[in-house]
Amino acid sequence: MAATVRNGSAVASRNPNAGEINVGDAGAPPSPMDTPAAALPDILRRARAAQAVWELQPVRARGALVRRLRDVLYQRRDALTRCVMRETGKPLVEALFGDVLIALDTAQYYAQRAAGFLRDRRVPHHNIAVKAKSGKLHYEPYGVIGIIAPWNYPLAIPLGQAVAAVVAGNAVLLKPSELAPSSGQMIVECFAAAGFPPHLVQAIYGAGATGEALIAARPDKIVFTGSVDTGKRVAEACARLLIPSVLELGGKDAMIVLADADLEAASSAAVWGSFTNCGQACLSVERVYVERAIAARFTELCVAKTRALQLGPGSNPENEVGPLIRPEAIARIESQIREAVSQGAQVLCGGHRRPDLGPAYFEPTVVVVANTIVANTVVANIEPPSVRTPGEGLSLMREETFGPVLAIAAVDSADEAVACANDSKFGLSASIWTCDVHRARQLARRIHTGAVMINDVGSYYGIAEAPHGGRGASGWGRTHSRIGLMEMVQVKYVDVDWLSRWPKAWWFGYNQDLAESAGRFIDFLYAPRWPDRWRGAIGALRSLARARRKR
Ligand code: NAD
Repeated sequence: MAATVRNGSAVASRNPNAGEINVGDAGAPPSPMDTPAAALPDILRRARAAQAVWELQPVRARGALVRRLRDVLYQRRDALTRCVMRETGKPLVEALFGDVLIALDTAQYYAQRAAGFLRDRRVPHHNIAVKAKSGKLHYEPYGVIGIIAPWNYPLAIPLGQAVAAVVAGNAVLLKPSELAPSSGQMIVECFAAAGFPPHLVQAIYGAGATGEALIAARPDKIVFTGSVDTGKRVAEACARLLIPSVLELGGKDAMIVLADADLEAASSAAVWGSFTNCGQACLSVERVYVERAIAARFTELCVAKTRALQLGPGSNPENEVGPLIRPEAIARIESQIREAVSQGAQVLCGGHRRPDLGPAYFEPTVVVVANTIVANTVVANIEPPSVRTPGEGLSLMREETFGPVLAIAAVDSADEAVACANDSKFGLSASIWTCDVHRARQLARRIHTGAVMINDVGSYYGIAEAPHGGRGASGWGRTHSRIGLMEMVQVKYVDVDWLSRWPKAWWFGYNQDLAESAGRFIDFLYAPRWPDRWRGAIGALRSLARARRKR
């Protein structure tokens, strides 16, 4: 397979014979221009007009268009892959698995399942007082959903959220990251090519100020994915306008490796989980707690596998780790490593910059910013002081690193590992490695995160049925799955009274007999002894009859 980077943006093209994506060169499409804030009211008005018609379509018809979207995504998969690689610098394999495959699968999933999930549901009533009524739940769209997206999975994340929004009957205003605007533009083009109504899915472009303007324009819900700091600003802005929000924020995912784990598999997972997307994934393995008995062997394997990783531009399909997209991240990463070393930790490999792989090296593939790189780093011999002083300890084990660092701490027991994992303000996901799945399931219940994987890391993000979202500083709400779809609808309860001619006991005409009837009825429902209940029933009916006569 060709694996060269030449002048201009590296692009991939499908080789029909080999069925592989090949890298060649071609001009990158121009980045979309920033959207002026003044344009937003008009954009929102058009979205509302489109949504008012769209929501009248049956869910099955919406699902049929999502199926067409899946076909368009499939037809354009090479261009989408190229765009993701060009904007993020991630390796080809990761653009395919982490963005294109997940985008396709989400479309497939909601096309097939949304109608079932959004069907009206009967609500059986348990209380005899309301047995003559029948209730139903209807799932209705919010209206316009504002999606504010990060750069790191610029196709999979916003596309999945947009599909869930539209299949539920909403319009979408998507603000892609300023670092990945073309991916956002391509998403909107795919919706248009699939035949979605004009203005139903629109993109607006720009950085934080455009995100702020989007919220200020008052869409009906915001689905935000990004850092904790920005998430707090988004939450505040939404709260001021009483706009509901989903916040998918950062993580500090712990990996727990028990003494009976398969060390080959666990070490490969730790290395992949720490360095995939150059450590810039919300589900990155950011902390490893390994039982002391196997810590040395596990660490040795991790170091050997880390050293073997091939760094470089994603355009070479054999490269495994790309660049850091934000140069300013380097200072954070270095300071976390420095602090850990000052407290006795050891850098076993990496821990330094790679000027040879700096901006000049990546510039040909990444058009947006001058990317740069820190060597893949393994830091070990970290004592877990955070357990002794809850909430304190090394920033390497506390704050999101979001870079290529694998941090390993030895612990004395599974209990200590769980305590360490829970000693975090974040709560996105975690993993447990052991041959004893029953024990792992019990430990998983004790971990305070939105998801726990047993004997794998991160891959649940690619399972359409698995809800994704965090606790604490990792945010609130869910995306993906039936539960993520429910974030895109408002529940309406509709009730029919089949005895509408009968005046209700609780209506006006209050008197002592009615109060007596209410009290006896409560006895009937909740008295602990059956004789009291029956006496309550008779008493309630008699006093109700008396109360009626006096009305
Ligand atoms: P970021 O917070 O810098 O930006 C995210 C988006 O918010 C961008 O589109 C940005 O333009 C916009 N934005 C910035 N300021 C804003 C403001 N004041 N109001 C509204 N919008 C604003 O994050 P990033 O660097 O793009 O992404 C990395 C972060 O995202 C990491 O912390 C990572 O863990 C997190 N992330 C979380 C998930 C998840 O599912 N939990 C997934 C991917 C990334």
